[in-house]
Amino acid sequence: MMESKNNRRSFLKMAITAVALAPVIKVSSALAAAMPKSQKIKDKMIGEKKIKMLKYVPNAAEAKKLKAAGNKSYKKYNEGDNCGNCRFYTADKKEPEWGKCTMAARQYVSASGWCKSYSKKK
Ligand code: SF4
Repeated sequence: MMESKNNRRSFLKMAITAVALAPVIKVSSALAAAMPKSQKIKDKMIGEKKIKMLKYVPNAAEAKKLKAAGNKSYKKYNEGDNCGNCRFYTADKKEPEWGKCTMAARQYVSASGWCKSYSKKK
């Protein structure tokens, strides 16, 4: 009887731990997916100074949220705008989800990103 109680307790502890860790594992894999594979790109990622200057966000969904919250730096954002369809973006040949941005001194940005200098590619 006592052993059965302990087994049930152990099982519950494991189940609670698994449920608690699930979001952490999901976030970690999302972050891993959001990083370029190439070291060359990692070494030339947009720097803090340009991020601040351009109000760059690595995911345009964030710009949408900030605009909705009334942040004036993101007022120019429109649905569907992202670095990937910006005229200042040049996709990397091997990893097109990353590209050099003219406005960010040819440093790499994410195709899913957005900044206040966005200009639609024609
Ligand atoms: S200028 Fe265009 S490509 Fe560069 S960070 Fe801004 S939106 Fe992205």
